[in-house]
Amino acid sequence: MNTVPQATRVRFAPSPTGFLHVGGARTALFSWLFARHTGGTFILRIEDTDFERSSDDMVAGILEGMRWLGMDWDEGPFYQSQRLEIYARTVARLIDSGHAYHCFCTREELESRRASAAEAGTVPRYDGRCRSIPQAEAAQRMAQGERAVVRFRVPREGVTTFQDAVFGPMEFANAELEDFVLLRSDGIPTYHLSVVADDLDMRMTHIIRGADHLSNTPKQVLLYHALGASLPVFAHLPLILGPDKTRLSKRHGATSVMAYKDMGIVPEAFRNFLALLGWSPGADAKQPNGPDREIFSTEELIRMFSLDGIAHSNAVFNNDKLAWYNTEYVRAYDPSLLLPLVEEEWRAVDYQPSRDREEILAAIALLQPRARSLKDFASAFLAYFGDRFAMDAAAVKKFLSDAEVRQMLAELGRQYAKLENFTEASTEELLRAFAAEKGIKAGALINGARVALTGQAVAPGLFAVMLYLGQQRVVSRLEAAASLTVE
Ligand code: GLU
Repeated sequence: MNTVPQATRVRFAPSPTGFLHVGGARTALFSWLFARHTGGTFILRIEDTDFERSSDDMVAGILEGMRWLGMDWDEGPFYQSQRLEIYARTVARLIDSGHAYHCFCTREELESRRASAAEAGTVPRYDGRCRSIPQAEAAQRMAQGERAVVRFRVPREGVTTFQDAVFGPMEFANAELEDFVLLRSDGIPTYHLSVVADDLDMRMTHIIRGADHLSNTPKQVLLYHALGASLPVFAHLPLILGPDKTRLSKRHGATSVMAYKDMGIVPEAFRNFLALLGWSPGADAKQPNGPDREIFSTEELIRMFSLDGIAHSNAVFNNDKLAWYNTEYVRAYDPSLLLPLVEEEWRAVDYQPSRDREEILAAIALLQPRARSLKDFASAFLAYFGDRFAMDAAAVKKFLSDAEVRQMLAELGRQYAKLENFTEASTEELLRAFAAEKGIKAGALINGARVALTGQAVAPGLFAVMLYLGQQRVVSRLEAAASLTVE
């Protein structure tokens, strides 16, 4: 019999009880890359049945993070809070087929049994005492106003197995699993019920999620079996750890994805960095005589992505590596594409450039080799975009504290005013001749001029900077050096 390959359907299913965090974004990215690689469908589902902890703000934050990272979805967002009927229907099927039952044990009863189990040194697990209540009796008790949850009837014996695409064959003893709750007494489904009901209803072929869900999977596998459904492919992603090898948390710095945007990280850099957090592209990226490649375009990531490349060991989040990616990307951007990101940074600090667009693009190109983050364009680099900029105090102290140098720079400025043909070569020639005439090292003037012109001790080549700023600005900024007060 020929089997027609099934089109893949993969989802990202965040709970909006927090913003999109690094781990979630990595799960989303792997799912997205897998969907795009296989030409399948990527579905976004918001798991918002924890009404108390979910909020619209969090949903908005998650969508914003997804968009920032360029992870577009083909279906959704679906909201579980709007799909309660599907879960009720699924539970009804499970009760009818004998796979689930009503449990009338109260919270207090359960707690006291749990406490006695703890005292006796045994694992607190639901003892199954409501299993044998006939359905008709359960219905009658509920009709009389008694409250009940619905529990899944876990087989007492045997094992539940599944094949994980990352971790290989998995096996769990059923005796270790308790009769878990599917539906709370208020009709709200638990995670296990809603996730399986939705994954079936939405015809997911692959479930890609964090390894923290590995222990949930046997329960869900039992639900698939009970519902007569075949299993999707499970792929659990290794955890992301901080540099100290504990699970990544706020202690290690920002965990929310948008906080990285606020730090001046460009989305492509973050995405490239995330993609290699627990996945490697394999032989394609190996270079004959050099280090493995680490920079991949989105198209390349999509082309190379496979579940086989997912690591089995936990990944370590390395901030220096992220900074490296960011620098590489900021430098490689086409200036016209970088400009909108730079403009966003300017808006954030309420800055308006006073140069025109062509000049700004030229400045961006000039500055890119020295940029480390988008933030530089709204701080250290402001002297290139207008005349309102701050002088870096340390640079002033280092190179402009000598009053004589400041006077000479002003005089140099006056000479530049008379220069007829203002080019990189002529400005350099003039400075060197002027230094020789004054008996001062050209380097001292160059360093001083760099600070006077840009406010910074480091800058692109000084004469290229002069040409970019133009004669008039060079003259006035050098002349202004004379009136600088240096503490
Ligand atoms: N809503 C779950 C979470 O945010 C995801 C569940 C899943 O992917 O199965 O952890």
